[in-house]
Amino acid sequence: MSSNFTPARVRFAPSPTGHLHLGGARTALYDYLLAKQTGGQFILRIEDTDRKRLVPGAEEELMNGLRWLGLQWDEGPDIGGPYGPYRQSERKEIYQEYAQKLIETGHAFYCFCSPEHLEKVRTEQQKNKQIPHYDGTCRNIAPEEALRRVQAGEKHVIRFKAPREGSITVKDTLRGDITVENRTIDDYILVKSDGLALYHLAAMVDDHLMKITHVIRGSEWLPTLPLHCHIHRALGWQEPEWVHLSVFLKPTGKGKMSKREAADLIKDGHSIFVKDFDGLGYLPEAVVNWIALMGWSFDDHTEFFSLNDLVEKFSLNRLNPSPAAINFTKLDHFNGLHIRNLSVEEFSRRIKPFFSSAGLNPDDSKLLKIAPIIQERVATLDESVDIAGFFFRPTVEQKVEDLTAKGLTAAQSADVARKCLTVLEAVPEMTLEVAEPPMRNLVEELGLSAGQVFGILRTAVTGQKVSPPLFESMEIIGKEEVVNRLKSAINLLAQAD
Ligand code: GLU
Repeated sequence: MSSNFTPARVRFAPSPTGHLHLGGARTALYDYLLAKQTGGQFILRIEDTDRKRLVPGAEEELMNGLRWLGLQWDEGPDIGGPYGPYRQSERKEIYQEYAQKLIETGHAFYCFCSPEHLEKVRTEQQKNKQIPHYDGTCRNIAPEEALRRVQAGEKHVIRFKAPREGSITVKDTLRGDITVENRTIDDYILVKSDGLALYHLAAMVDDHLMKITHVIRGSEWLPTLPLHCHIHRALGWQEPEWVHLSVFLKPTGKGKMSKREAADLIKDGHSIFVKDFDGLGYLPEAVVNWIALMGWSFDDHTEFFSLNDLVEKFSLNRLNPSPAAINFTKLDHFNGLHIRNLSVEEFSRRIKPFFSSAGLNPDDSKLLKIAPIIQERVATLDESVDIAGFFFRPTVEQKVEDLTAKGLTAAQSADVARKCLTVLEAVPEMTLEVAEPPMRNLVEELGLSAGQVFGILRTAVTGQKVSPPLFESMEIIGKEEVVNRLKSAINLLAQAD
């Protein structure tokens, strides 16, 4: 287990083959936390050896996503570092060197089998209900003979020569010791026929050369962990600590999310891709808090964590191997908590782009007045526009049916609105302290409920049935505009009869 005094070197090693999703973000977060907590380094390594699957722009998106979450790396392809390069496509020769070492020590071999032969073997094995494995045809070709064929230009790959006898015991931090029979391990390909190393070799070599102390990765790598340990041991290296995180399940708790389901989420204002969260009104602080707790806990009740809290409190021994279901209701909850935790200035700075992209022109001083009265009321930043957009619109949409109070006709509602107008025109100042008492008196006088009277007023002034607190809102809108809006509501109601 890591101690606070041993600086950890931890890497996030994504393949730039798609969007950064919650699973990747969580891995990166735990990497970052362990590195920062121990005074070590968080390293970004781009695993781009599978050239066919590369997606243009994915590397940049990954970096933007990490930066948005606040997870700045200490070494990486863009900033360099003492163990670069940090892009696997730029390290081809290094992998060749270690593949050769494995061949020389009898831990790997050249394989010349044709795709047709491999296909035939696979079909046969499947027919016999065996797990498809390499059949060993080239395992025992004499090294000189193999070398001669390679030099003669014969097409080949390099495979790991998995031991056929005995067993191997590997240790995962969350699951303890795992022992497997060596004969169940396939002779995996390490280097393809085009000379490019595959993950199994490239990642092991990089982890060693980059002095990685902890490999934190998805549990899809657990089945090949024994192979990875064999490679480390064959090269005489000390293994890193292996940490395989729990899997993410879809919100229903059943299975993994398909690509289609992931894409469809956006219709409900949700996503599993980091790039989408900003536009959906989520704070990076909340996303970090949310994903931190999908697979880790501090105790059984603390739920609010800033990134700094997490750096202080994170520990590998409180990681949980059970699958974690993605729960968007919890995300909204955390988003609300982190929104309330912002200063008013910061909150108003964060909501501003949402008003701008709704075509409104939010000026800072007005936003600063609105911020405190809506900060308690929104779960996502974009909701600010829904509830406070009216402050920036020259006119509000008034509808007779909304302006008409419950239990009253349109004409009666118009009457109430006229009385409100008389009271409000007379107040010296449109503030909560000055305007509310005479309005309350009016409610009494009219023998109506506050809901009826203030409902008419609210709809007239804000165009909405639900709004931030009415008198505070009217103070921001200003007396002149309140009076104008009320007059237009009266006209509308009067015409309705
Ligand atoms: N490139 C691998 C992936 O994206 C990284 C796994 C690891 O962290 O070692 O799944």
